[in-house]
Amino acid sequence: METKHNSLGMAMAHAKCPRCRQGDMFQYKWWQVTKFLKFNKECSACNFRFEREPGFFDGAMYVSYAMSVAMTLTSWFVLYFIVGDPPFKVYIITIIILNIVLLPFLFRYSRVIFIYAFGGIKYEKQLNKEK
Ligand SMILES: [Zn+2]
Repeated sequence: METKHNSLGMAMAHAKCPRCRQGDMFQYKWWQVTKFLKFNKECSACNFRFEREPGFFDGAMYVSYAMSVAMTLTSWFVLYFIVGDPPFKVYIITIIILNIVLLPFLFRYSRVIFIYAFGGIKYEKQLNKEK
Protein backbone atom coordinates (compact mmCIF):
# COMPACT_ATOMS: atom_id res chain seq x y z
CA MET A 1 0.00 0.00 0.00
CA GLU A 2 1.24 3.45 -0.84
CA THR A 3 1.19 5.86 2.02
CA LYS A 4 -0.28 9.30 1.62
CA HIS A 5 3.14 10.91 1.34
CA ASN A 6 4.49 8.89 -1.52
CA SER A 7 1.41 8.59 -3.69
CA LEU A 8 1.91 9.96 -7.20
CA GLY A 9 -0.25 13.03 -6.55
CA MET A 10 1.53 13.94 -3.33
CA ALA A 11 4.96 13.33 -4.83
CA MET A 12 4.14 15.67 -7.73
CA ALA A 13 2.55 18.30 -5.49
CA HIS A 14 5.67 18.36 -3.35
CA ALA A 15 8.03 18.14 -6.35
CA LYS A 16 9.65 14.96 -5.15
CA CYS A 17 12.10 12.81 -7.08
CA PRO A 18 10.14 10.68 -9.60
CA ARG A 19 12.23 7.62 -8.81
CA CYS A 20 12.19 7.43 -5.01
CA ARG A 21 9.52 10.10 -4.27
CA GLN A 22 11.62 11.10 -1.32
CA GLY A 23 14.30 13.60 -2.37
CA ASP A 24 13.34 17.13 -3.40
CA MET A 25 13.69 18.34 -7.00
CA PHE A 26 13.99 21.95 -5.86
CA GLN A 27 16.10 23.48 -3.13
CA TYR A 28 13.42 25.87 -1.94
CA LYS A 29 9.67 25.95 -1.58
CA TRP A 30 7.74 27.52 -4.43
CA TRP A 31 6.75 30.61 -2.43
CA GLN A 32 10.42 31.49 -1.90
CA VAL A 33 10.13 33.31 -5.18
CA THR A 34 13.59 34.81 -5.44
CA LYS A 35 15.09 31.32 -5.36
CA PHE A 36 12.66 29.52 -7.61
CA LEU A 37 15.33 28.78 -10.22
CA LYS A 38 17.42 26.77 -7.75
CA PHE A 39 17.08 23.27 -8.96
CA ASN A 40 18.75 20.20 -7.55
CA LYS A 41 20.82 18.37 -10.15
CA GLU A 42 20.54 15.09 -8.36
CA CYS A 43 18.19 13.54 -5.90
CA SER A 44 19.53 13.83 -2.36
CA ALA A 45 17.98 10.49 -1.44
CA CYS A 46 18.77 8.20 -4.38
CA ASN A 47 21.27 10.24 -6.48
CA PHE A 48 18.97 10.13 -9.48
CA ARG A 49 19.97 12.74 -12.09
CA PHE A 50 16.94 14.94 -12.73
CA GLU A 51 18.29 16.42 -15.93
CA ARG A 52 18.26 13.22 -17.97
CA GLU A 53 20.42 14.71 -20.70
CA PRO A 54 21.60 18.25 -21.49
CA GLY A 55 18.59 20.33 -22.42
CA PHE A 56 16.12 17.78 -21.12
CA PHE A 57 14.04 20.45 -19.45
CA ASP A 58 13.74 22.54 -22.61
CA GLY A 59 10.63 20.49 -23.28
CA ALA A 60 9.16 21.74 -20.00
CA MET A 61 8.75 25.08 -21.79
CA TYR A 62 5.87 23.63 -23.75
CA VAL A 63 4.22 22.38 -20.57
CA SER A 64 4.70 25.79 -19.03
CA TYR A 65 3.22 27.42 -22.15
CA ALA A 66 0.18 25.11 -22.06
CA MET A 67 -0.33 25.89 -18.37
CA SER A 68 -0.06 29.59 -19.08
CA VAL A 69 -2.64 29.34 -21.87
CA ALA A 70 -4.99 27.35 -19.61
CA MET A 71 -4.57 29.96 -16.90
CA THR A 72 -5.25 32.78 -19.35
CA LEU A 73 -8.43 31.10 -20.59
CA THR A 74 -9.56 30.49 -17.01
CA SER A 75 -9.02 34.12 -16.03
CA TRP A 76 -10.80 35.28 -19.17
CA PHE A 77 -13.71 33.01 -18.27
CA VAL A 78 -13.84 34.28 -14.69
CA LEU A 79 -13.66 37.93 -15.76
CA TYR A 80 -16.31 37.51 -18.43
CA PHE A 81 -18.85 35.36 -16.62
CA ILE A 82 -18.23 36.12 -12.94
CA VAL A 83 -16.90 39.67 -12.87
CA GLY A 84 -19.23 40.64 -15.73
CA ASP A 85 -17.12 41.53 -18.75
CA PRO A 86 -14.92 44.42 -17.51
CA PRO A 87 -13.10 46.79 -19.93
CA PHE A 88 -10.53 45.11 -22.17
CA LYS A 89 -7.54 46.54 -20.30
CA VAL A 90 -8.69 44.75 -17.14
CA TYR A 91 -8.30 41.45 -19.01
CA ILE A 92 -4.81 42.35 -20.16
CA ILE A 93 -3.64 43.61 -16.77
CA THR A 94 -5.09 40.62 -14.92
CA ILE A 95 -3.47 38.15 -17.30
CA ILE A 96 -0.08 39.89 -17.20
CA ILE A 97 -0.10 40.05 -13.38
CA LEU A 98 -1.17 36.43 -13.07
CA ASN A 99 1.57 35.30 -15.41
CA ILE A 100 4.20 37.20 -13.44
CA VAL A 101 2.93 36.16 -10.02
CA LEU A 102 2.55 32.54 -11.01
CA LEU A 103 5.85 32.32 -12.88
CA PRO A 104 7.64 30.43 -10.08
CA PHE A 105 4.68 28.09 -9.82
CA LEU A 106 4.65 27.48 -13.59
CA PHE A 107 8.42 27.03 -13.69
CA ARG A 108 8.28 24.45 -10.94
CA TYR A 109 5.28 22.45 -11.99
CA SER A 110 6.05 22.47 -15.70
CA ARG A 111 9.30 20.68 -14.78
CA VAL A 112 7.58 18.34 -12.36
CA ILE A 113 4.91 17.41 -14.90
CA PHE A 114 7.49 17.10 -17.65
CA ILE A 115 9.81 14.74 -15.79
CA TYR A 116 6.93 12.62 -14.54
CA ALA A 117 5.26 12.46 -17.95
CA PHE A 118 8.27 12.24 -20.28
CA GLY A 119 11.20 11.19 -18.12
CA GLY A 120 10.38 7.51 -18.52
CA ILE A 121 11.15 6.95 -14.85
CA LYS A 122 9.60 4.19 -12.84
CA TYR A 123 8.89 4.67 -9.19
CA GLU A 124 11.19 2.34 -7.29
CA LYS A 125 9.44 1.77 -4.07
CA GLN A 126 12.31 0.02 -2.34
CA LEU A 127 14.28 3.30 -2.57
CA ASN A 128 11.73 5.09 -0.44
CA LYS A 129 12.74 4.67 3.15
CA GLU A 130 9.77 6.51 4.60
CA LYS A 131 7.41 4.11 6.22
ZN1 LIG B 1 15.32 10.00 -5.61
